[in-house]
Amino acid sequence: LNIQLSTSNIEPIDILQKFKSSFAGGRIGHAYLIVGDPRGAAARLAENILQLLFCSDTSARPCGKCSHCLRTAKHIHPDAIWIEPIKKSRGILVEQIEEVQRYAFQTTFEGGWKAIVLLSADRMNIEASNKLLKTLEEPPPRTIFLLLSDQPEALLPTVVSRCQRVALPDFVAESGDALQSEVLDIAVGMGSGETEDKLRKACALIDLLKKIREQVKTASGEWLIQAESYGEAGEDIEEIIEGRIEAEYRERRKRVLRLLLLWQRDLMLCASGLAESSLFFRSAAGTIHAQAAGLTKIQAMNNISIIENMYACLNQHLPETSVIERAFMQFTCPPCLPMRRLSSGCRREAGEGGT
Ligand SMILES: [Zn+2]
Repeated sequence: LNIQLSTSNIEPIDILQKFKSSFAGGRIGHAYLIVGDPRGAAARLAENILQLLFCSDTSARPCGKCSHCLRTAKHIHPDAIWIEPIKKSRGILVEQIEEVQRYAFQTTFEGGWKAIVLLSADRMNIEASNKLLKTLEEPPPRTIFLLLSDQPEALLPTVVSRCQRVALPDFVAESGDALQSEVLDIAVGMGSGETEDKLRKACALIDLLKKIREQVKTASGEWLIQAESYGEAGEDIEEIIEGRIEAEYRERRKRVLRLLLLWQRDLMLCASGLAESSLFFRSAAGTIHAQAAGLTKIQAMNNISIIENMYACLNQHLPETSVIERAFMQFTCPPCLPMRRLSSGCRREAGEGGT
């Protein structure tokens, strides 16, 4: 599931520290996707990474004071190019990526690293994304690409797969958004009660995923209009958009499962007697304590495996409805609550909901 359970405690300063040691060890990657506010925290991190590469003070990189550091902070360093959507409605155009390509293959002014920063990289259209992908596949030496995005699910998966992902804490914590509260409604009490209670929870998740798929489809209408306005017509376009719908839906489904997993992880921490401060959903500590009462660490870990397994099954295109129902029936509840033996006959027929 590619979830780093400890990420909720990572601060931007720690992330920069990691970049420092990668840089010192000559292990810096050539492309990073920085998930965060492209006008806020993500941009600050990008500036710091660039300062690390360009700073002339070898003893205290980045010093923040030398001309390289100062020019980097102002986005006027000659060896860094900052690209952003031209207009609110138009996104990042293929012409801008062509500029990036020309730039990437030029020699540097200062003889060192060259950097390309894409602010709101998710705003690239398909043509621009594919063009960038070619450069990411065969990157020029000593060139770093930083893609900044607060909507990484809107990026082409092929582009994402070329980048190392760095999530800023705001975007890991994702506090209080609508989706999170809907997922938590499902998470609270998940695994307890009788068969019908478990099935009710499973249905709630299935319904939530259906709703998400509809939302993605609705949003895709806009992609089509956008694509047509770029003259990206042709038979491929519908297929490409179908692919984007699926990719975006899967990204959002992953987020839902990740939140469920983080909830179970909190239950496990609670069952292991760990401090409240280590919880991901600290604001729901009371509810977590109540739900974890009587739950053993082994049971909690088992529930985590069930979610991981559910995610793996969904990625193998097994029918969503039956995968989710089966998983929910397997959740272990504390021994104080009656746990009914479940026969496979409890499973409803799958099929609707599809993939
Ligand atoms: Zn400096």
